[in-house]
Amino acid sequence: MSIANATSPAADAIDALRAIGREFHGRSWSLGTSSNYSVVLSREPLTLVITASGKDKSALGKDDFVQVDAAGTVLDGTPGRKSSAETLLHCLVADLVPSLGGLPVGAILHTHSVWSTVLSRADLPRGFVRIEGFEMLKGLEGITTHDTREDVPIFANSQDMAELSGRIRARFERLDWSDRRPPPVHGFLLAGHGLYTWGRDVAEARRHIEIHEFLFEVLARSRTLAVAPPT
Ligand SMILES: [Zn+2]
Repeated sequence: MSIANATSPAADAIDALRAIGREFHGRSWSLGTSSNYSVVLSREPLTLVITASGKDKSALGKDDFVQVDAAGTVLDGTPGRKSSAETLLHCLVADLVPSLGGLPVGAILHTHSVWSTVLSRADLPRGFVRIEGFEMLKGLEGITTHDTREDVPIFANSQDMAELSGRIRARFERLDWSDRRPPPVHGFLLAGHGLYTWGRDVAEARRHIEIHEFLFEVLARSRTLAVAPPT
């Protein structure tokens, strides 16, 4: 049984995320069954529609999604269909970022690109990837000038999502979100793994993936070429 009829908000979200999968696979950001994507369907109570576990992102079907609650528990209960292993991270972002004063979160996208994998591992000892002085930073919501700096947090990877969520929450709560436009961060990295970002809708989250991925590639290639970015 499909979790959404043809005209429901869930069906629209699924159509949008299927298109994301096709595009991101084509751009080598979501190869194989890697990555996961979600849309916030409701806030009271928090309900997300998210990619099911183990699905090829180049060919997501209408039934390759599940709905989950704030704890990541599958709501629609289709036998054999599990939510993504990283569902808890989506739930965390959907709840935490708006509560701290960050951007509204209507969609969360996660990718496993080459450059986010390489850079997140290289800069893990420092704890962040510093992006500074690039025109493309203006593609992140609220940033209006190249003359700014964004330190994208990096967390050591883990298969224990509750433990990882706790570390992300603790670090995000230490950032200064008060009256900040733009917010201090638009995403985070898991070392040797990939990028999480979000936006008020799928289009904004998609743009944030594209901007981060562009900037990560610029930084990594600049280091290879020994072209020093601004410090
Ligand atoms: Zn992942």
